[in-house]
Amino acid sequence: MKRLERAKGKTLDTLADQVHEEVFEELDCLDCAGCCSHIPPMLNRTDISRIAKTLGMGTAQFQEEYLRMDEDGDMVMKTTPCPFLQEDNTCLIYEDRPKACRQYPHTDNMEFSQRMPLHKTNANHCPAVFHIVERLNAVIGG
Ligand code: SF4
Ligand code: SF4
Repeated sequence: MKRLERAKGKTLDTLADQVHEEVFEELDCLDCAGCCSHIPPMLNRTDISRIAKTLGMGTAQFQEEYLRMDEDGDMVMKTTPCPFLQEDNTCLIYEDRPKACRQYPHTDNMEFSQRMPLHKTNANHCPAVFHIVERLNAVIGG
């Protein structure tokens, strides 16, 4: 990560975007579900009302049943594994899943270099991030 931090900038972001595509072509999240199993996603207000509606619940009832406030004041899923993770590793509310779930692991939005501490943490939990960092190091780190 230190080598990559020294290589910060647009070149790293462009390369990370390409490597992200490569790694996710080879890796199937349905074989892993590590994030859904271990990292409670954050839900914004739009997520909460959308998912509550999908489940036929009021937002207050949904929050009471599924959410808690974390130490940063964000609403997150109350339990891990996520209550919507199914036995075959699919997501019960996939079409309506939280924005945070859609964006995880944050390696493909051309802002890779601005999230280095996050990648460092996620490389310990997400095999995709681990491989993305390894490949970037092989190209950039020398
Ligand atoms: S931890 Fe990473 S590789 Fe595993 S399911 Fe989540 S995004 Fe996919
Ligand atoms: S809402 Fe779906 S995608 Fe998000 S953590 Fe739960 S099971 Fe995974």
